[in-house]
Amino acid sequence: MANIPWLADVLRSAGVQVVEHGDWRNRMRPGSFSPIGVLWHHTAAFSSASNPHPALNVCINGRSDLAGPLCQALVDYHGVFHVISAGRCNHAGSARASGPIPAGDGNTMLIGWEIDYGGDQATDQAMTAAQYNASIAATAAVLKQLGRDSSYARGHRETSTTGKIDPSFIDLNVMRADVARAMNPPTGGWTSTVDNTTAGRFSASTNWGTSAFSGQRFGENYRFANPVAASDAAWYKFAIPETGNYRVEAWWPADPGYNNAAPYVVVTSGGNQTVTVDQRVTGGQWRVLGTFNLTAGDANKVGVSRWTNGTGYVIADAIRVTRV
Ligand SMILES: [Zn+2]
Repeated sequence: MANIPWLADVLRSAGVQVVEHGDWRNRMRPGSFSPIGVLWHHTAAFSSASNPHPALNVCINGRSDLAGPLCQALVDYHGVFHVISAGRCNHAGSARASGPIPAGDGNTMLIGWEIDYGGDQATDQAMTAAQYNASIAATAAVLKQLGRDSSYARGHRETSTTGKIDPSFIDLNVMRADVARAMNPPTGGWTSTVDNTTAGRFSASTNWGTSAFSGQRFGENYRFANPVAASDAAWYKFAIPETGNYRVEAWWPADPGYNNAAPYVVVTSGGNQTVTVDQRVTGGQWRVLGTFNLTAGDANKVGVSRWTNGTGYVIADAIRVTRV
């Protein structure tokens, strides 16, 4: 028995938002557990900003036909990792060989993420960007901890002996390439940080107040605004040296009164992409929003939008962009 009591800490150190559920270190199925890889699933439950983890209870407690826990962690709509178990779980069943994973007992060999989205034609719901980015960061961190490379990240549809289709709507080879990049980021690359007080590089309307309330702030203060159904983003301007891939990270102070679905808008070479985060948790640290292709030039590259169905103040503090 090789349990993984380090799971929550390893995820947090990779910039992943974590919620620990109950006595997760001692919640597990009986039997062997010697993980060598990570298996991605979808729950087939339709999630949303207001119902971000519909399958959480069943993943903890199981179903009438399958005893829980059903995964080591559930990934909610906002990309938050809900850590459920440090040991063996009923998620993989018997496995057929896939990549370096041999045929055998999948629940012994694999750590499972249940990513909470519909994934089928009835719901027509794909994984959110927040779910994908957090799952990449988490998979990279766990494989590094296990001493395995990105080929040990698999999808259930690759190992299932019973015709499972999950995780739907993603390319698993692209997923492994993204995990590999996250595990081995190039060093010495260009990086730039813009705070809300950085001269000439931050802009926001007067609807955004200024506060130094939270000790988790970056620099001397940060900006805040109520949600509104209108375009009134705070913008961060970066002088991107060359068109290419960049890691974008955000820093916010967390508070229960802040927004639970704050939209960060990244201006990529292929159009705007929005990543929604929960600013009530995981404050006072850099948190990875993802890796994006950015166009060379000095322009507004990242914004924080007030246009959200979440509640509480939307916070604009600091953004860091790094060439990868
Ligand atoms: Zn599955």
